[in-house]
Amino acid sequence: MNVLPSADTAVKDRIGLFGGTFDPVHLGHLRAAEEIRETLDLSRVWFVPSAIPPHKSKNITPPVHRLRMLEIAVEPNPFFGISTYEIEKKTTSYTVETLRHLTSAHPDTEFFFIVGSELFSSIDTWKDYGELFTLANFAVIGRPGQEGGFPSLPLALKKDFSYHNSEDKVISYINSQSKIIAFTRFRGLEISSTEIRTYANEGASVRYLVPDGVAAYISAHKLYDTEAAL
Ligand code: ATP
Repeated sequence: MNVLPSADTAVKDRIGLFGGTFDPVHLGHLRAAEEIRETLDLSRVWFVPSAIPPHKSKNITPPVHRLRMLEIAVEPNPFFGISTYEIEKKTTSYTVETLRHLTSAHPDTEFFFIVGSELFSSIDTWKDYGELFTLANFAVIGRPGQEGGFPSLPLALKKDFSYHNSEDKVISYINSQSKIIAFTRFRGLEISSTEIRTYANEGASVRYLVPDGVAAYISAHKLYDTEAAL
């Protein structure tokens, strides 16, 4: 599907950016990235692990481990990659700063920032949120298990966006700068990192919830063995 409106932008490379803590990456993340890539006809999806996420207060596993697990997970898929920008920057990971950097480093790329609907509903609390929609398109995914139709536009965005188009799996809105918000419906897998940390902490198997290599890495490094990691 081509949700982009103009011929000018349609010729650009289309890359999805999937931000998250990925503590650890799981099959729900990978399946979501794959489905969004197909639905929005993206050439690649780059996972963007955060250094210090602004919205999470819990203890986070050191970036070196989260990054290594992501590398193991994305390696078999030629359409997947990783941006280490936030991890290398080390400070709090604000999406607007990441988008400023990536759009200026890749001027011929049209980015789609992929985000779960539970996070997108409070987008107006994100740093410089108005600017986000001048820099990139957004692909909003309903978490599996969420009932009902497409989520509606957050109130704060209603004045800037109008209906663009809809298809079976996507409804999109557009602003005056031709940036899109695409709400997508997808099959998905109902898995969370919290669940995996809990299982690992209890000594239960995490096989078939994460790639085999990631399960082996968690076990070898005893990543979630202490209460503090939960
Ligand atoms: P935690 O349980 O620690 O909160 P998480 O499983 O939600 O972690 P994150 O790394 O916080 O994983 O999520 C990164 C992004 O992936 C977010 O936009 C989140 O909404 C989305 N996401 C997480 N799990 C799934 C899933 N099973 N299906 C689709 N999207 C998901």
